[in-house]
Amino acid sequence: MQMTTSEIRTAFLEYFRSQGHQVVDSSSLVPHNDPTLLFTNAGMNQFKDVFLGGDIRPYSRATTAQRCVRAGGKHNDLDNVGYTARHHTFFEMLGNFSFGDYFKHDAIRFAWDFLTKVLQLPQEKLLVTVYATDDEAYGIWANEIGVSADRIVRIGDNKGAPYASDNFWQMGDTGPCGPCTEIFYDHGADIWGGPPGSPEEDGDRFIEIWNVVFMQFNRQADGTLEPLPKPSVDTGMGIERVSAIMQGVHSNYEIDIFKTLIQNAAKIVGVTDLENKSLRVIADHIRSCSFLISDGVMPSNEGRGYVLRRIIRRAVRHGRKLGATDTFFYQLVGALVALMGEAYPELKSQQPVVERVLKLEEEQFVRTLDRGLSLLEEELVRLGDVREIPGSVVFKLYDTYGFPADLTADVVRDRGYTIDEAAFQQEMEKQRERAKDASHFAVDYNKQLKIEQTSDFCGYERTIANTTIT
Ligand code: ATP
Ligand code: MG
Ligand code: MG
Ligand code: MG
Repeated sequence: MQMTTSEIRTAFLEYFRSQGHQVVDSSSLVPHNDPTLLFTNAGMNQFKDVFLGGDIRPYSRATTAQRCVRAGGKHNDLDNVGYTARHHTFFEMLGNFSFGDYFKHDAIRFAWDFLTKVLQLPQEKLLVTVYATDDEAYGIWANEIGVSADRIVRIGDNKGAPYASDNFWQMGDTGPCGPCTEIFYDHGADIWGGPPGSPEEDGDRFIEIWNVVFMQFNRQADGTLEPLPKPSVDTGMGIERVSAIMQGVHSNYEIDIFKTLIQNAAKIVGVTDLENKSLRVIADHIRSCSFLISDGVMPSNEGRGYVLRRIIRRAVRHGRKLGATDTFFYQLVGALVALMGEAYPELKSQQPVVERVLKLEEEQFVRTLDRGLSLLEEELVRLGDVREIPGSVVFKLYDTYGFPADLTADVVRDRGYTIDEAAFQQEMEKQRERAKDASHFAVDYNKQLKIEQTSDFCGYERTIANTTIT
């Protein structure tokens, strides 16, 4: 059965609605009331206080299609983009949640029924993991669902401490936590990779599609696990990964949304090879950048804004690498809005702001990009056989040419070079000591805004007027 990404989103929400779940809107990418979290990175974020018991909702079952960004902080997939078939900086996580309502039996049954009945995925392509000591979950998969023993993998004990492994989820050092069960799809023997728990698990043959967390304990400050009075459920399924399966392709970058974005990017920069890795990076980055800006993040030199600026600059660099001579990145926003504006109206309404901000950022960065790249090439020659770029060079590129360190690393990665990250950080520290203001390189919208709001300063009025930040 073929399904579009939109159809999968609708089918998921409808399925869980029919099972008594309240359909709740995606929350912003900027987490509310949670300064510890860089960006919303999972569906459960907006329900954190509900799980903790501090926020009581009129429903005990919910379902969402949550926009997520993993480009910094605890989950950072920025460096995976362009290298794996399954990682994006921006993706949509479909989830169902039980707040003290159903637990393991129903959570597993719902997930399995959605995959095998609604999406009609063949059972023999699916593989599940359970937490190593979770005999209850193992029993449900084996006896109630009927998954054969060779397709259930226990994960946990092999990584040392009993609760340090990937299959035991916890929100922080204390608080609600519990074992997971994950569902993987086997894309076939001609793709490199092994089942979860094997040495080749990082390959892209077996792709994790759904993570189901059983929130069962409240971890105490002394490390002990106290059973929760009302065990809960938190699940997350990556829509792009399921889309790939439903559209009969292996890589997320071949699904409907990405195909269209890549075609548009290719047209704008003037290339014909649609397999080009840089096109994938650009298609990925236009989504994270556009959604972040539409959720109110502005490029800046610190915090969330700097993560955004780094992603924009990486995209701009990949565009120049492909031969773009004009400002190109913002030209993709229209295509993205056409693809996703209906599901995310805030993206549509912010389109003009997104375009202006991206255009301005690109115009500013290209002024120094080429010179920075030439300097980098000269340094590579000077390095001879050494394959690590010194911290002082990374710092110079950062400070004089506006190259975020990860961009420099990205430029040279395919040629086998790494950067001396620790030495770069030392240079940064030295600079902080020299001057409080980290870098004068770029326009800092956030700082300007603060100035605008708190004083009569009007030197940047034109920029502000052009970007209309709300
Ligand atoms: P992986 O092991 O493949 O990196 P994960 O275990 O980090 O995935 P979870 O934190 O369990 O992922 O998130 C729940 C689901 O969200 C995953 O099962 C996957 O389908 C999807 N997902 C996670 N990270 C990404 C990403 N960077 N891009 C696209 N989908 C993702
Ligand atoms: Mg991951
Ligand atoms: Mg995983
Ligand atoms: Mg997972």
